[in-house]
Amino acid sequence: MPHRWRRRWPWLAWAGLAFCVLAEAALASSEIADPGAFLEQTERVRTTDHPRFVLMLEQMRSEAPELTANQRWYLRYLEAWQTAFEGDAPKANTMLRDVIDHSGDITLRAKASALLMHNQGLSSHYEEAFTLANQLATDLPEIKDRLARFTVLANLSQLMVFAGQTDLAIKYASMMEETLPPGESLCNPLSMEIGALDKSNRLTSSSPKLQEAIDTCLAAGQPVFANTLRLIKSALYRMEGQPAKALELLNSILPSISANRYYPHVRSVQVQLALAYEKLGEDNNARKAALAVLAMSGPGEISEVQRETYSLLYRIEKKRGNLNATLGYYEQYTAQDKGYLDDISARSLAYAAVQQHVLAQKLETEGLSKQNSILRLQQALDTKAVETSRLYITLLLVVLVSIFFWLLRIKRSQLRFKMLSHHDGLTGIFNHQHFVSEAERTLRMLEKRHGSACLISIDLDHFKQINDTHGHATGDVVLKHTVALCQRQLRPTDLFGRLGGEEFGILLPDCTLDQGMAIADRIRTAIEGTPVNGDGCLVAFSASIGLASTDTSGYELQRLRKDADAALYRAKRTGRNRVMSDAESQGLVKA
Ligand code: GH3
Ligand code: MG
Ligand code: MG
Repeated sequence: MPHRWRRRWPWLAWAGLAFCVLAEAALASSEIADPGAFLEQTERVRTTDHPRFVLMLEQMRSEAPELTANQRWYLRYLEAWQTAFEGDAPKANTMLRDVIDHSGDITLRAKASALLMHNQGLSSHYEEAFTLANQLATDLPEIKDRLARFTVLANLSQLMVFAGQTDLAIKYASMMEETLPPGESLCNPLSMEIGALDKSNRLTSSSPKLQEAIDTCLAAGQPVFANTLRLIKSALYRMEGQPAKALELLNSILPSISANRYYPHVRSVQVQLALAYEKLGEDNNARKAALAVLAMSGPGEISEVQRETYSLLYRIEKKRGNLNATLGYYEQYTAQDKGYLDDISARSLAYAAVQQHVLAQKLETEGLSKQNSILRLQQALDTKAVETSRLYITLLLVVLVSIFFWLLRIKRSQLRFKMLSHHDGLTGIFNHQHFVSEAERTLRMLEKRHGSACLISIDLDHFKQINDTHGHATGDVVLKHTVALCQRQLRPTDLFGRLGGEEFGILLPDCTLDQGMAIADRIRTAIEGTPVNGDGCLVAFSASIGLASTDTSGYELQRLRKDADAALYRAKRTGRNRVMSDAESQGLVKA
């Protein structure tokens, strides 16, 4: 085993056990008919028959038919495992990261992460190891493959003991019990639990759990695990002041440890023997065992074993009064103590840093999710605000349109009212009052520019008789008919109004007396010549017309009307159905 893998033996003692987790009986196969099955067989023999594992890897590379993408990643993981085994951790770690990042297979990713975490812990890259541990703990629910899950839990439990997180380590160990892969005993999980309990000083040599774990491992044919547990038990005996019992136990497991040649145990048993001898006052034996430990150590090794050994040698040499040796061992001891304490604090610092980082990430995630909900709320509010403003705009539009239609209605009513107030209900022409005001206004304008105008007064002849003979309705028809006949002779600028029952007035602006007479006569002729159909027979009727001109009567309407009425009166008197002008009465009319 390469030197750098030996430096921190307590860690390796457990790490080695984790490797053993995957140990199963080798299955013989020389053909690669099924590359998937062959890869699985290769993985199974990696710790039980390592030379065979190497051969099978080689066989896989040279003889395997076309591999699927997943099988290629599986092979890559096994190659990484072999690279780590050969001691090239940096190269192995690069390969493992490749598998973790690109294989896309949860089981392979879990196995590769567990191995990478293990390697990082061994090479004192604690932060990386704890970061991977966090990731693996998060991924745990998705790791369904029992063996992968079991391996991950074992490695997590070890790392947590290493970080001083013994409760967590115990939790992972009990999870291992729940996920035992086929063919696996409770030895491994129980050993993990005992390791954690021991680390947290919660064990005594008589703890039933400790004996149960030892018995389980012995029954399962796991001597390495059993020896680890028995080494713990002997240390407990010693610390409880029973060095003889400790020595007895150590001597009883010595043959098994020698047979298994598991390096961490070989050293550990010597340290413990040395310490037990010291307690028993057998300094020579103690010194001998301690020197045996140093002989097995690598140069520059910093570890708890080394620290204990130098401390013991220092005490013995001091007792003997060997000053030079005392000083030498003391210096070694302080260097070991400092290095060991530095390493422990580096582990706890790294663990705390990773936990802080995870906490910060969690807080950030929570913060982000809070921000997201605030944003979502804001968006909802914005949408509501838009909806509300749309509603307001719609309401405003409805109100505006209603107001518009209301105003329109009012305007129409006003116009209708105005129309009604200005016009005669039966014939639709100006009523008396409106005719008068319009005529006065027109006359004032004409006066300003010295224009001429004629006022015509029309009165139907014997209209009462028509009513009496043909009925009131026929009388109305006659009135409407008369209005229509008059309008045909008028210009748009002429003013036409009903002044009384069957009396009408017409103001002809910009009209000379002659022109006015002509128009009046055309009206009279039209009336005379157009009977109406009333009550089943034709009703003929006529009108008498009187005319006055501004030229003779001036621009006062009252005077004009008086003169026109006078002319009309004359027309009635002289036999009706005729046009008379005021000028005629004044002798102004031409013959
Ligand atoms: P003269 O030729 O002298 O003008 O005789 P006359 O019958 O036309 O005159 P008089 O003033 O005596 O009669 C006017 C009649 O007009 C009286 C009234 O009943 C009738 N009259 C007034 N307004 C209306 C109306 O709106 N409809 C109808 N059918 N008759 C009306
Ligand atoms: Mg009349
Ligand atoms: Mg009349």
